Amino acid sequence: MVSKDNFRQVVPYVPGEQPKENDVIKLNTNENPYPPSQGVMETLSHIDNASFRKYPDPDVSDLVSEIADYHNVNKEKVFVGVGSDDVLAMCFLTFFNSGRQVLFPDITYAFYKVWADLFKINYREVPLDEDFNIVPSDYLAENGGIVFPNPNAPTGLVMPLDRVEEIISNNPNNVVIVDEAYIDFGGESALSLVDRYSNLIVTRTFSKSRSMAGMRIGYCMGNEKLISVLNSVKFSYNSYTMSEVAIKTGVASVKDDSYFQRIVGKITETREKTKEALTDLGFTFPDSSANFIFAKHNRIDAEQLFNALKENKIFVRHFDLPRIKDYLRITIGTENEMKALLDFLKKYIENN
Ligand code: PMP
Repeated sequence: MVSKDNFRQVVPYVPGEQPKENDVIKLNTNENPYPPSQGVMETLSHIDNASFRKYPDPDVSDLVSEIADYHNVNKEKVFVGVGSDDVLAMCFLTFFNSGRQVLFPDITYAFYKVWADLFKINYREVPLDEDFNIVPSDYLAENGGIVFPNPNAPTGLVMPLDRVEEIISNNPNNVVIVDEAYIDFGGESALSLVDRYSNLIVTRTFSKSRSMAGMRIGYCMGNEKLISVLNSVKFSYNSYTMSEVAIKTGVASVKDDSYFQRIVGKITETREKTKEALTDLGFTFPDSSANFIFAKHNRIDAEQLFNALKENKIFVRHFDLPRIKDYLRITIGTENEMKALLDFLKKYIENN
């Protein structure tokens, strides 16, 4: 029997459920309900056997160049990985080594805590204010780095860029990671600050706004020095993180900007309509700038509603955590999916 002291003890992150059936309305993991662009599907259909036989390009240069051009930064400022989870984990491993506490909000992406534990990083969760806002002055204390999403998850609240900058500018000796998984749906990106602040990393994903969660593509941008250290760590761990299929289809996605803009526009439009409808039904929520709404009903218990929805094949997310147990996180789906959700909620609320 292998002794337990050989094992790394961890409490893993629990991802949202991925039901096997297709006839469910899946509003629980902030995926995009629309297909990726036509160009992505065409590229996929032309992928030849060499992409399978051969190892992929370890530098992922085609995708790095495409992303760099798209954001108008030089390619030494771009790092790519297997979803932004991979990029963020690599950043934790690379930048949070001082032994000082890394700071992140108490209500935020649950994976931060998991990576910190996995990599034995000391951390402190900084409480959001009572309206779920991040308070920049709370991030002035001594620390070994900072990470937060903007818009934050699961609240959906975006922080104006001047407040984000306040956090970055007050921590010149530590890396500040702004996780922009949802920024395409609202808010001002910190990307414009990358040239001015050598301590800033901005992470992005193809999983939400680009409808490519299944392909696992994420990236980050930052000062050349930070990106080069990040690459050294990556090449000390696994040279071939991204599959050739992901690289090629990722390039195709970035090329089709008009489709991307159209889909993001549709989702934000549906989000705004959904906000009105939820308000009419007695829900309140922080004003989301993401592709989900974090809503609480004035009378009905969230867990009860979560279960009733699930029984009716509508999946949303509920977190059984002290400050947020009264809320459900509802991903914005298609117009039809949101109609089905709202019809169900209306009936349920009338009858309970
Ligand atoms: N950051 C935040 C805030 C997220 O909600 C998610 C999605 N779970 C991610 C990062 C990771 O997304 P992905 O690995 O699909 O890029």
